Amino acid sequence: MSQDVLLGKSLPELTHWVEATGQPSYRGKQLYDWLYNKGIHRLDEITVFPKAWRAEMAAYPVGRSQIHHHRTAPDGTRKYLLKLHDGLIVETVGIPTEKRLTVCVSSQVGCAMACDFCATGKSGFTRHLQAHEIIDQVLTVQEDFQQRVSHVVFMGMGEPLANLDQVLKSVYGLNQDIGIGQRSLTISTVGVPGKIRELADHYLQITFAVSLHAPNQHLRESIIPTASHYPFQELLDECREYVAITHRRISFEYILLAGVNDLPDHATELAKQLKGFQSHVNLIPYNPITEVPFQRPGKKRINVFKQILQDHKIAVTVRYSKGLEADAACGQLRSNFRRSAPATVK
Ligand code: SAH
Repeated sequence: MSQDVLLGKSLPELTHWVEATGQPSYRGKQLYDWLYNKGIHRLDEITVFPKAWRAEMAAYPVGRSQIHHHRTAPDGTRKYLLKLHDGLIVETVGIPTEKRLTVCVSSQVGCAMACDFCATGKSGFTRHLQAHEIIDQVLTVQEDFQQRVSHVVFMGMGEPLANLDQVLKSVYGLNQDIGIGQRSLTISTVGVPGKIRELADHYLQITFAVSLHAPNQHLRESIIPTASHYPFQELLDECREYVAITHRRISFEYILLAGVNDLPDHATELAKQLKGFQSHVNLIPYNPITEVPFQRPGKKRINVFKQILQDHKIAVTVRYSKGLEADAACGQLRSNFRRSAPATVK
């Protein structure tokens, strides 16, 4: 069920809205500023508006969630459970580093993709998030850290390309209304047929990541069930089109699962598949989740895999996830929470 709220609206839309409440049009800019820069949760917080209007509008939905729970890992990464207007809980993660504050946002409550190694998929799909519910996650982390958010990655719960319209709307909002540069916004997808091409047609300068996780169709569909409807070469062809249209390189994410997809032969095959591709490979050592028996490979194995890619002139980095101790790392969202509390809090 979607809700008409103020968050997510542009300056012209807010101006139009405020005029309809009987206020002069210059109030639109004030409302915009208090909504996006001052981060109000309720309209009666806008002290520059007339008292009577504030009293009348106090209960109008702004679109901000409540922090239901949060937990901080020793590295400073903080995971939040946010309570949405319909009582559902969504997770978001704030990742502070020396110069950055990155928010890992969710695009759906749950996820329908059911990748074997990911905790989110274990809980199934509940609903898409609205654009304002994605923007709210960023504002919430910004407010809690008392620091401007510099980067946003769509790597929380959900498959962004399965909710492309709302994800795009939030990307425009984060860029234009919150002021985060497009290059500092990353969309990550496991691939939905036709959607990479659709995204390309928006000519965004965002960072685009594709969760590849295997060097061939057979292995890929053995760990990613939805891959069986999306042949490997078709996926790569769509990625090539993306690069041709946007002139932006693609990041390929590759989770390393010991004994499953981390052997030297896999690295060689991956290098061949990506030969001549304008891309960068991020190797993500598996973060443990309780439901499945996968294991993270040892450092030596990881380095051998990386070296083989480098020998084939493939740009590669190993990305250790932050927030492991708070179950806030890649793939861990939802797991412990599910075990200890119901998904819906009334
Ligand atoms: N649905 C999107 C975004 C969500 S997950 C996608 O699949 O890209 C963000 C990244 O974390 C993906 O690359 C995903 O495959 C990876 N991931 C999932 N489970 C993981 C785990 N247990 N350990 C490490 N990375 C994981």
